Amino acid sequence: MTAARDLTDLIQLSRTLAEPWRRFVILAEGNTSQRVAEDQLVVKATGRSLRHASREDFAVVSLSRMSDIVDDSEAGDADVARYFDEVETEQGLRPSVEALLHVVCVVDAGATTVAHTHPESVNALLCSDRAEVLAGPPIFRDQVVVIGRRALLVPYSDPGVVLAREVRARLAEHAREPGMPRVIYLGNHGMVALGSSAGQVLQLTEKVSRVLATALSFGNVVPMTDESAERIDTRDDEQIRRAALARATFRQAGND
Ligand SMILES: [Zn+2]
Repeated sequence: MTAARDLTDLIQLSRTLAEPWRRFVILAEGNTSQRVAEDQLVVKATGRSLRHASREDFAVVSLSRMSDIVDDSEAGDADVARYFDEVETEQGLRPSVEALLHVVCVVDAGATTVAHTHPESVNALLCSDRAEVLAGPPIFRDQVVVIGRRALLVPYSDPGVVLAREVRARLAEHAREPGMPRVIYLGNHGMVALGSSAGQVLQLTEKVSRVLATALSFGNVVPMTDESAERIDTRDDEQIRRAALARATFRQAGND
């Protein structure tokens, strides 16, 4: 990419998510993105590894053009490929096939930073008959504050435009409930963290993979009651904490 934009947090987030000990991604798996202008999303290029990400590993795509492809029920892989060809000709690199998923998370759910990963602990559940527990009622207080009471589970879909369309449809259904999800689980595939800062996205990915998935992997869990979850969700002190987490810089998220 050519324009001089501050991608420091996005690059740092990408490298951190791919630290081998975290077991969130291997090889060139996973992708990250950041909205940098009204119609511009910076998204990892295909085949590049998060572990060694630098600004040369990110492409700039048009949110409106990609969103239109998702909306057009006649459009398919060939239309996506045509647009990616254009980007590749202009910028010398091709967006990840999951760029469409990122676009939907930004346009439909209002995220400004997005990370898609395949954490081992989360995928173990997503590939089992217990996948729905991830998006079930909250089981601990911090889950309500950091992740929120409502996550979305989308059954396995073909990566690319089909998956993006499916996520868009489910987010539209979800919009009837207050608050957009901060985590989307993709059946037999992985997770997506939707945040307003790189720090928040890292915290979401960590909280889900290291705490929630581990707790759920032990078997039957005891969810919080609706009343308890509602109380935590609306307490003033927890609202303040949640707002601070959403603004967290990378350093504040404890990963300098
Ligand atoms: Zn994936």
